[in-house]
Amino acid sequence: MTVAQIPVTTLAGGHRLELTVHTLRGASEGPRMVMFGGIHGDEPMGSETVRRLLESIDPAQLAGTIVAVPVANPYAHQALTRNTPLDGVNLNRIFPGNRGGTVTEQLAAVLSEILEGADYFIDFHSGGNFATVEYAYIHDAGAEMSRAYGTSVLYHGHPYIGSATGWALEKGVRCMVSELGGGGQRIEDYLRKGVDGTLNVLRTVGMLPGEPVAPPEDQVIVETLTTLAPTVGGTMLSDFGVERLGERLPKGTVLAKIISPHTFEVLEEIVAPYEPSILILGREHLTNVAPGDYGFMVADGAGAKPA
Ligand SMILES: [Zn+2]
Repeated sequence: MTVAQIPVTTLAGGHRLELTVHTLRGASEGPRMVMFGGIHGDEPMGSETVRRLLESIDPAQLAGTIVAVPVANPYAHQALTRNTPLDGVNLNRIFPGNRGGTVTEQLAAVLSEILEGADYFIDFHSGGNFATVEYAYIHDAGAEMSRAYGTSVLYHGHPYIGSATGWALEKGVRCMVSELGGGGQRIEDYLRKGVDGTLNVLRTVGMLPGEPVAPPEDQVIVETLTTLAPTVGGTMLSDFGVERLGERLPKGTVLAKIISPHTFEVLEEIVAPYEPSILILGREHLTNVAPGDYGFMVADGAGAKPA
């Protein structure tokens, strides 16, 4: 394994911003798979999944090359923020970036260069500091990866405009986005799921030997996935945390109440919109929320099809 520092830019404080790139070359020829962790700085699960994954692969068994950037947005990672603190930009909305732009635009430009010519790309995300999530995206190019990754819910949605995946798909790269864990909940379970799932993807695309494990029998593809965001800030009280992810809930189920910690008023209720609603992202019993935060994500269960 080689570890290289790719220069991005220099800051006014004199710090040089670099991206650390790990390259694991297999003993035999094969595809090139790129992996990013930490495009969002409040999702350190992705960085740790990449680290554990690379440590678990024997290059003598590997066909092809894995190129991994475990921390794709170093300053956001440091600050535990979704967007880069220096310019307030969401790195996953501005690909392919701009070498003459702001810090985040320059990061995207360097990451785009790393993605250029890849056969496969996996982008490791999670919930943020307070939210836990469990699904993977499935795209037509790379669908075999998503099935093999093994989450019970696969979301067949359009990638965000300006996301690393959106840009890579345009370039003909087969892509998968993992959304596992976050919120400090069940960390070991989700890291194991991420590493085991990725090893199964590598077997499926022929980069590691061995028969891939079949996806779970209950694996479904959903077409509609909705974020339920509080429109007000306050204290969110909920009984729908990590242990209830994957549950199918009747339409109208009250998922949470937002109360004012000052006056104790109930400011808002968050209600399941679909019959049934599959719970994809939840928060713990008590969390602070700001308007527009990720409160919950639910999929329309009526449209769920077997994968
Ligand atoms: Zn993310």
